Amino acid sequence: MLTQFRVFGVKEKICILKGCQERRRDRPEFQHHTKPCTVSMAGNAPSSVAALKCSAGVKEELETQKSVFDPHGVDPNLVRKMEYDALVWSSLHGLVVGDRASQMSGRLPGVGLVHAPISLLPMSFPESHWKQACEVAPIFNELVDRVSLDAKFLQEALSRTKKVDVFTSRLLDIHAKMIDVDKKEEIRLGLHRSDYMLDEQTNLLLQIELNTISSSFPGLSCLVSELHRSLLHQFKQHLCLDPERIPENNAVGQFAEALYKAWAEYNKPRSVVMIVVQTEERNMYDQHWLFTLKYTYQVRSIRKTLAEIDEQGELLPDGTLVVDGEAVAVVYFRAGYAPTDYPSESEWSARLLIEQSYAVKCPSIAYHLVGTKKIQQELAKPNQLERFLENKDDIAKVRKCFAGLWSLDDSSTVKDAIQRPGLYVMKPQREGGGNNIYGDDVRLALQRLEKEGMEEDAAYILMQRIFPTISPAILIREGVSYKDHVISELGVYAAYLRNKTNVIMNGQSGYLMRTKVSSSNEGGVAAGFAVLDSIYLV
Ligand code: ADP
Ligand code: MG
Repeated sequence: MLTQFRVFGVKEKICILKGCQERRRDRPEFQHHTKPCTVSMAGNAPSSVAALKCSAGVKEELETQKSVFDPHGVDPNLVRKMEYDALVWSSLHGLVVGDRASQMSGRLPGVGLVHAPISLLPMSFPESHWKQACEVAPIFNELVDRVSLDAKFLQEALSRTKKVDVFTSRLLDIHAKMIDVDKKEEIRLGLHRSDYMLDEQTNLLLQIELNTISSSFPGLSCLVSELHRSLLHQFKQHLCLDPERIPENNAVGQFAEALYKAWAEYNKPRSVVMIVVQTEERNMYDQHWLFTLKYTYQVRSIRKTLAEIDEQGELLPDGTLVVDGEAVAVVYFRAGYAPTDYPSESEWSARLLIEQSYAVKCPSIAYHLVGTKKIQQELAKPNQLERFLENKDDIAKVRKCFAGLWSLDDSSTVKDAIQRPGLYVMKPQREGGGNNIYGDDVRLALQRLEKEGMEEDAAYILMQRIFPTISPAILIREGVSYKDHVISELGVYAAYLRNKTNVIMNGQSGYLMRTKVSSSNEGGVAAGFAVLDSIYLV
């Protein structure tokens, strides 16, 4: 049945988290974030359930106030209706992913589809923080571009990591080869997503990471915003929530436009956009949404794995990349960010071939490296941002988003993390979810590294753990809904396109809210930890 509910007892876990927040006050490094939390979230709002029972008399007033609401307080019959409609809407509008239960669903489109994991209703999010995240998006784009131009900085900052992390080392080797031949990237395309959590205690919007490769869900995130708007319209009488408070989300349109404009700058009308994909991809519809650009812009696209590119690709003497007989104008990576994407030398040759060519790369090897956790940590050091940005206001805005970030050669931080591991996250140089270390495992990992006295510590960074507000939500996965308590992570997409000195695009380009049960550490939707969500501005 579609409407089965499973309510998890999460009280104990919430208490544990609160305990961490209490203890965190002792830590001097966190003292500058000590403003009390003023975000009124559903769980704390005494009148939240009343807002759902809208009588004609109070309705107008409730509509005008920026009310937050408690989905757990919604009448179960109404929830069942909304769930049913949400599932119909998702099926009809392509808010779908490949079903794990179907063997071919990751290879063949149209086979074994299931609705994407979603939250039934949007998540409350403060408008001021939403504006802050949008405002800083073009500055982060600029920062990525500037840092990517400093090859020496990238090589030096990652030099210790290189010794212990084979994957990063291979990326750096390609980067070094490009330095040797003085390779210039004139057309520079970045399709980024900066991820944030709103720390409850300090009320600060803190960056989790900046994705410069394979930023996922520009396609499906727009659909979730649309679905939520449609449900709020349809059930307006009962919910009293204003659909207009869900911000416009056109990530797919903006990313498609950026890909098209990059293709136009390359200026070879018969060339194609090539999307680099994994052999098996259950999130293929998100990618296919982006490539409806062929209908809007009449640009042809091809999908290839790195192994296929190695087999079918060649470099013409003028630097043109030809794959399967097609000249490639733009290479858009939705693979190539994880070691598993390079099972043999063939995939590495393909990555090098692409980098050597004059095709526009999204991302170039340098942009890819700028998105590593180590570079994030280096940029958070004092006076580093000043090397790349001139405008003092811009620097302050970027710095305000930085959480505490440390290298493992910072012995006092390592000591503190061993004593209070719950306040930290330990991160390797990996992408794609499921790689971080949390809680007591941080202590164990740090003690192991200390004991072994190896250079392996350079493979990790330490980050302040962010504790967002826990809110009630209804999550739907594979047709089954769950009432749960959740935390959310806002991703803001941003497209950047520059040809020589001409900046053609640079701006916020939509958003993705990901919501996960509060007891889960990791956040990936594709990795099975989170669901897709949208935001309701309060
Ligand atoms: P990945 O490249 O694997 O996506 P992230 O840095 O985004 O790596 O971490 C994965 C997930 O772990 C995030 O989506 C978030 O849910 C959680 N996470 C990461 N850093 C923190 C942090 N400092 N505090 C709390 N949760 C975090
Ligand atoms: Mg992430």
